[in-house]
Parts: sequence; structure tokens; C-alpha cells
Amino acid sequence: MKIVLILPRGGIYRRKTGAFPIFIRYSPLTLPSLVSLLPKEIDIDIKTYDEGVEDIDKEKIEADLIGITCVTGAAPRAYAYADYFRSRGIKVVMGGVHATLLPDEAAKHVDAVITGLANETWPQLIRDFKAGQMKKLYAASDDLSYAGWPDPVRSINKGKKFISINSIQATYGCTNRCEFCVTPYTCKDYKHRPIEDVIRELKNIRGKYVEFVDPSPIEDVEYAKKLFRAMIPLKKKWVGCATTRIGFDDELLDLATKSGCKGLLIGFESVTQNNLNRISKGFNKADKYYELVDKLHKKHIAIMGCFVFGLDTDQKDVFKNTVDFVNKANIDLPRYTVNTPFPSTGLFARMKKENRLLTKFWAMYDAQHVVIKPKNMTAEELQKGHHWAWKKTYNWKFIIKRLAHARSFTGVLLLANYAYRHYGRSLPRYDRKEMEKDLKI
Ligand code: SF4
Repeated sequence: MKIVLILPRGGIYRRKTGAFPIFIRYSPLTLPSLVSLLPKEIDIDIKTYDEGVEDIDKEKIEADLIGITCVTGAAPRAYAYADYFRSRGIKVVMGGVHATLLPDEAAKHVDAVITGLANETWPQLIRDFKAGQMKKLYAASDDLSYAGWPDPVRSINKGKKFISINSIQATYGCTNRCEFCVTPYTCKDYKHRPIEDVIRELKNIRGKYVEFVDPSPIEDVEYAKKLFRAMIPLKKKWVGCATTRIGFDDELLDLATKSGCKGLLIGFESVTQNNLNRISKGFNKADKYYELVDKLHKKHIAIMGCFVFGLDTDQKDVFKNTVDFVNKANIDLPRYTVNTPFPSTGLFARMKKENRLLTKFWAMYDAQHVVIKPKNMTAEELQKGHHWAWKKTYNWKFIIKRLAHARSFTGVLLLANYAYRHYGRSLPRYDRKEMEKDLKI
């Protein structure tokens, strides 16, 4: 049986590598995990394509079954692929974040939809397909076991232009419910894999550096502490996500550091406490941000700081205030998004009810394009302010100032800042017209 797996990407994420020989991006875990779950008893010829790093020559693809996985921003392109392959008589299945959020919509373009984690459903679907009994919907069961998973087949990404293929995940979902976040809707419970499984997998990963892709790994503090303790002897170096809570549990931060933590993506989201409270992220304490950054830098941990513009209490000065904070605090790698109501979320329902949705063209739901009417400015002001913040932040003067305080990964951070400078400057050119071109696969 021939199976082809495709991860489509929006145009801005298919840009060339520019001055670099590789992309400053690690490989996602989805395709390696799906390959690891192929039923052993079936003879399968598998090929995978990640459009973030490689082109797809669709006419040359031959398959019995095509699997497509995507986030909302890539959904229109994913549907274009699905429609094309079905027009050639190939069966298509879709899973991933968008199909989980909108299974009925996805079902219009594919033969079968997988919602939630595919650990049990994907192998079952393949068996059913072989038996000529593929169903239309495969939903993850609530009692999915998180133990004994096979290692993702990372070797499928060997030779592709990723900066690293050593992604790993220990926890799924999140205990928090930040209003803009899609995680609680795609994975309802907060679950974790057994620590011994994660450690075994880490031991099998070649090389010193790994990336944890968990959206929220430290919210079960006791689990996180146990995992970090068990990681210490491995002497790996890792990057991953954390909430700001990591700064206020000294034992947790100490163990993270000892386990090899070198970089954290942290959702600061807003420099205004009122905003944080309104989006159910009141556990972030805006008045403690400087202290947190300082603490992490002292532990030689680099910070990718994420901020959202266009929250309901944001005024027009939000852009300047945020950029000032980022530069003053010396955030190593700042990232900006605009408030985006992903379909089927509570925020989407609220925006719809308040008649504030500007479009349902999903390609624009990439968190870089304004898709709602903000409260205290126009949509144009929000979009322009967002572009201004990217440009101002990635001005060389500020890059150098911030990186003068970096204590780890300085070479990588310089490259990443350069890549983000390019990305931020490209954003204004990547408008709706460009996105519509993207539908031509
Ligand atoms: S803490 Fe992070 S992962 Fe959890 S809901 Fe908030 S933004 Fe999402």
C-alpha cells in the first residue's frame, strides 16, 4: 500500500531560506509520529512532505491513500490538495488542528476525518482502508492511553532543511483556558506520558539538543519536576515552552536548568494586567515581568517572548508600550501575533455574537492578519501597528542591544533574530491577494 503524508503551509512559511543554507525551524512532530504508528502487519510504502521545507510536485505523487494535516491558516491550501488528489481518484484523509476544530467542514473535502490525537485512530483507519471499510470519522477516545507509544520516526526528516529534527513531546493539552488559545479545544484534558517513556525516547535521540513541543509542559508541577530530575543524568540541552509560573517556583526553575533548559517560549501576551485578567491569563503578573526575565537570564535561559495585539482593552499605545518593554527587558527573541478567534473556540463564538468577525477566509487565520474588529482602534490601525512593532523590534540597533544580554545560544539567537527581521518585514507584502494565490497549488 502506498501512503503519502502532506503537511501544507501558508505562503509566508514556504519562503526561501534567504542567506541561510537551512530553515531556522525545527521539524514538527506530527509526520514522524504518524509514520511511527503505521500498522506493522501491513506492507506500506510511505512518503512524507512538509511544505515548510520542500516543494510538492503534485502530479508526480502516486498513492493509494493521502493523509493531510494542517492548522487553520493552511486549511484552504490543504483543501486544494485534497480536492486535487480526490479528482485523481485517490482517497484522502485529514487530521490535525483544523480538522479537529471543524470536522464537518473538512469532511466536504476528504473521504475520512481524524479528530484529536491519532495514536489509535490512524492505525485503525489504515486497517479499515485495507479492508475496504474506511469510515468517515475517527475521533480520539477519551480514555486514550499515553503509555507505550513508539518513538516518532525522525529519520524521515533527515537531510531536510530543518535546523533540528529532535522534537519530542511529554504533555498534551493545558490546564489553563486563555481566551485566544486553541490548545484546550484540540486536546480537552491535560495528559502526560509516563516519565520512563519520555526518558527512553530522549536516550534514543541522537545528539545533545532536543526541542520539547508541548504547548504547556509545566502546569502539572510535580510531573514537570519529576521529569526534569530524571533528565539530569542525560546531559541533554533543551528548549521548550513554559508559562510565566516557572519563574516563581525556584525549585522548578532550578530543576529545569539542571536538566539542560537553554531556551523557553513564554506567553507574556500583554504588558497590561487588565488585559491579562480579561483573557483568563491573570496568572501572568505584568509587574513581575522584568524580574522573571532577569531570573531566567541569570540561569542562562534564552527567552522567546510572545505578545498578542488587539485584545479588548488594548489602546492605540499598545504597540509602543510592548516594544519598549521588549527592548528594555532584553527579550532575546520577541514574537508578535494579533488576536485571532480560531473556529469553534469560545473567542470565535463571542466575536460572532458581537458581530466582529471580518472574514472566514481561514488563510488569514495565521495570527498575523487581522480578522476581527478590535475594540479601541480600527482593523487597519491594528494591522499597521502590528507591522510597526515587528519592524521596530527587529531594527539592528535593538537586536544588538537585546543580544548583548543573551547568555546562551547567542549564535543561534543572532540567526533567529535575523530570520525574524526578514519575516517581520515580509509580512506587509503578504496580503489577502497573495494568500488567494496560495490556493493555486
Ligand atoms: S497557558 Fe498557553 S497553552 Fe495553556 S491555554 Fe494559555 S496560551 Fe494556551
